[in-house]
Amino acid sequence: MRLVPDAYYKNVFEINYDNLVKKEYKYIFFDVDNTLLTYDSKNVDEKIIKLFKNIKEKGLEPIIISNSRKNRIGIILNTLDIKGYTFSKKPLKFVYKNIINKYDKNKCIFIGDQLMTDVLGAKRNKLKVILVDRINDNEPFGTKIWRFFERKILKKYDNKKIFIVKKYYDNL
Ligand SMILES: [Mg+2]
Repeated sequence: MRLVPDAYYKNVFEINYDNLVKKEYKYIFFDVDNTLLTYDSKNVDEKIIKLFKNIKEKGLEPIIISNSRKNRIGIILNTLDIKGYTFSKKPLKFVYKNIINKYDKNKCIFIGDQLMTDVLGAKRNKLKVILVDRINDNEPFGTKIWRFFERKILKKYDNKKIFIVKKYYDNL
């Protein structure tokens, strides 16, 4: 299975949300760590609050999915006034299945910063996925292991010109 995302952006602010509306997506699932916030940030910054307000005004429903601790996610969900799911096994198929079954699959899209969890998890379930560059390199040990495998795949993809880091695109 190729771990090539359907779109690739520098960050969540650059994503063309109007195009998501146009393509009739409705439920926008966001990873948290290094996608919306750094691993160590406890608060949601103004820029993210503004972005989510904007997304909601477009008629999209942003939803959080994260491996992060429950209390941290609780703060984020409260601040942004949105729904969310926490679990610790993101690339696994059943995890996605349980969540997606609550929604119209064709109207769901996933946004995250990791090939090995966010993109793999979505692809396994035949869901559309947008990759963004991680916010910074400050990541916990478990994530660093995923990154090790990610680098190997990225190198292979780069050689074959399948996917090139920093070459942003949107094939949605
Ligand atoms: Mg992440």
